[in-house]
Amino acid sequence: MITPDALKKLDLASASELLEKREISSVGLCEAYLARTNEVDGNVKAFLNIDRENILSQAAESDKRRLEGKELSPYDGIPIAIKDCISVSGQPCTCASKILENFKSPYDSTVVKRLKEKGLVIFGRTNMDEFAMGSSCENSAYMKTANPWDLSRVPGGSSGGSAASVAASEVPVSLGSDTGGSIRQPAAFCGVTGLKPTYGRVSRYGLVAFASSLDQIGPIGHSVLDTAAILDIIGGHDPLDSTSLPEESGTFADAVRKSSGGNLKGVKIGIPKEYFNIDAIEPGVKAVMEESVNILQALGAETIEISLPHTEYAIAVYYIIATAEASANLARFDGIRYGVRPSDASDLNSLYFKMRGHGFGKEVKRRIILGTYVLSSGYYDAYYLRGQKVRTLIRNDFMNAFQKCDIIFAPATPSAAFKFGEKSDPLQMYLADIFTIAVNLAGTCAISLPAGIDKATSMPVGMQFIAPPLGEHKMLSVSKIFEENRGIKAFIPSL
Ligand code: GLN
Repeated sequence: MITPDALKKLDLASASELLEKREISSVGLCEAYLARTNEVDGNVKAFLNIDRENILSQAAESDKRRLEGKELSPYDGIPIAIKDCISVSGQPCTCASKILENFKSPYDSTVVKRLKEKGLVIFGRTNMDEFAMGSSCENSAYMKTANPWDLSRVPGGSSGGSAASVAASEVPVSLGSDTGGSIRQPAAFCGVTGLKPTYGRVSRYGLVAFASSLDQIGPIGHSVLDTAAILDIIGGHDPLDSTSLPEESGTFADAVRKSSGGNLKGVKIGIPKEYFNIDAIEPGVKAVMEESVNILQALGAETIEISLPHTEYAIAVYYIIATAEASANLARFDGIRYGVRPSDASDLNSLYFKMRGHGFGKEVKRRIILGTYVLSSGYYDAYYLRGQKVRTLIRNDFMNAFQKCDIIFAPATPSAAFKFGEKSDPLQMYLADIFTIAVNLAGTCAISLPAGIDKATSMPVGMQFIAPPLGEHKMLSVSKIFEENRGIKAFIPSL
């Protein structure tokens, strides 16, 4: 048995120890998490769907394996929550959209297949902004997830359910997807750790596509070590994803363990001057960033000022490229191949109107229209082509910066979690990703870690480390050392 209090502090690594020492069974662990979910999810609303029977039967199988000494990995029997745009065979996959209301995945995504091969228990479908478009979870067609630190505030988005489920101790780890910040921004808002791997590091087979040149799946957890351990499992080449890199996975957690207790002597950390001159950055965030820089320096890191001169174009470029790709990717939801076909549609136009008009939410429609516009002949050169060119400049900014430093330090978000309804103007909402979006445009990797508490709101504040493409080992090692030395050791809401 595990007490509710101990459950709140449990992470992946310590759950693994308890299971290995036979101090708890997988069924016991899953029952404790189900009880916790029963207690808090009526308020937090992290989960769109929880299949209790299925969870307990996976757990029972895991216990049987352990009893026979045939566990599949140290994590066999530990639950993980999955964002509702990542396919789990036989389970719903709605992308928090009405258009996929009754859809069930016919197969496992590669990431889920790999988690199952290591014995992890797939625990529920987490809420999100519809089709991963948003920064607050307010765009879900079903419900609004709340921030476990303050239920009147958003958990961030689009992987808000995945971040909130970990922060509320309903699961020890989860998977999200990050197209422009959707893992890192909600992780920062909820006081948990979120990792966006290098583009191509993790297979996207079975992830419902939003913007294919930007999307990446990654883990959310309580610690750097936990996210590294999950990346070890889900990463690595996949022949089913043509953008998958040949790189192997499996040594990230070791790198983190080795760096424990170390310092940052000899590490050059770049601080982009443009990121601290942005008006939108709130004083509480700035203060935590200053404290964090002091900690990095005290650990022996050399901090240098760098420049990412095209930062001011990142949001505009993202909303051209991401919407263009989304307009193509979402064309498949037409009531013929996917979605429930309305019985009273007399011709193709009325079918589309009934199906797409009613099935998609406002933000999704806005983006399809914008994306179709920037790709249309006459506007393609002026918007899409130009956007791609500026994207190259943004990527070059990062590559030039990495000539001068090993890693970039940045805030994760310009403010702590905001209140529901506070950013009803979409342009205001888009600004919430100002520090995360360029990383996806550049295709590189980044992690957001809780760094402190915003004095004005008492909410957690996240910082980011950004590393060169395939620089996860170094990034995770530096993150571990920072994590061990930051002012607050554990970020746990009082919920
Ligand atoms: N908030 C950004 C958007 O709305 C990023 C979303 C994401 O990373 N999926 O598009």
